[in-house]
Amino acid sequence: MTLSNSTAKVTLNDGNQLPYVGLGTWQSKENDAYKAVVAALKAGYRHIDTAAIYGNEEEVGRAIKDSGVRRSEIFVTTKLWGTQHRHPDDALNQSLERLGLDYVDLYLMHWPVPINDAQCKKDNNYLQIPMNEDGTRDLDLASWDFIKTWELMQALPKSKVKSIGVSNFSINNIKDLLASPGNKEVPVVNQVELHPLLPQFELVEFCKSKNIVVEAYSPLGSTGAPILELGTINEVSKKLAIPPANVVFSWLIQRKIVVLPKSVTESRIISNLQTMELPAEEFSKLNNISSEVGEKRSVKPNWTPFIPFV
Ligand code: NDP
Repeated sequence: MTLSNSTAKVTLNDGNQLPYVGLGTWQSKENDAYKAVVAALKAGYRHIDTAAIYGNEEEVGRAIKDSGVRRSEIFVTTKLWGTQHRHPDDALNQSLERLGLDYVDLYLMHWPVPINDAQCKKDNNYLQIPMNEDGTRDLDLASWDFIKTWELMQALPKSKVKSIGVSNFSINNIKDLLASPGNKEVPVVNQVELHPLLPQFELVEFCKSKNIVVEAYSPLGSTGAPILELGTINEVSKKLAIPPANVVFSWLIQRKIVVLPKSVTESRIISNLQTMELPAEEFSKLNNISSEVGEKRSVKPNWTPFIPFV
């Protein structure tokens, strides 16, 4: 068994198909974002993950156009920022405008946390994190919640958004969403941090039981790829004679989890698309890493007083 480009797709609960590997673009700025997306599409990626708050939708959209790959072949995800939970229709139209696209394949609620938009209205800029004087984030929790946001997302026109989903939702958040009277659609995906130090076994099982596909963000532990320093990953990498990053991506896809590696380095973009089936022994070694060395979360913004992840 050797590495080969991953072309497999998973079928979502609404029938749409999502490629298992997508290019992440958080912290990919301007020209770097443009070049990364062009390189990825040239290498064979057909799935790009961005978000309004990443500030790179224009470059991502321009790269998609310039790549020469047909729009219908590419799965594009963007995300609703917290300051626009009360107006996802406006937010979606603005994202489409910046992307220069008629539709996105997937629109995600970025976090289950609404943010107060008073400052945004003053600045005419919704892509920010308004803060209180005491240094906390200015949240909009008194008269709004993610259940109301989801009701509005369900009403978005299917001509502009093919599928809708959530991100950073805990099991309890999903249970609350599905039990709410206004819920008609089960989110197609839940995009969460997931890697060998945060394997999310319980959340993955729960999502599977509800027919929700899990997408792994920060699969290398985010900036600087700390997961690639782990001893077990390097042992398996040597044994199988494949790079450490590909060990991680292969393990995730074998668990039927979509993986979103970010890179602005062309050689890494090309190699990150490659996966293989891991032998059972190596697969279980990766499963055991977090119980041996402890769990570690990389992305943990302070959403006080909202309590995330539980
Ligand atoms: P990743 O875990 O993908 O790691 C990115 C880092 O790994 C960068 O420093 C990159 O460097 C480096 N890297 C990439 N490939 C390799 C390789 N083969 N060998 C060595 N180093 C490598 O981090 P992200 O946090 O960016 O997560 C991925 C994507 O998930 C995001 O870009 C975004 O699309 C999504 N995401 C979603 C979130 C959400 O709230 N929904 C939160 C966080 C991420 P370089 O670029 O310099 O090559």
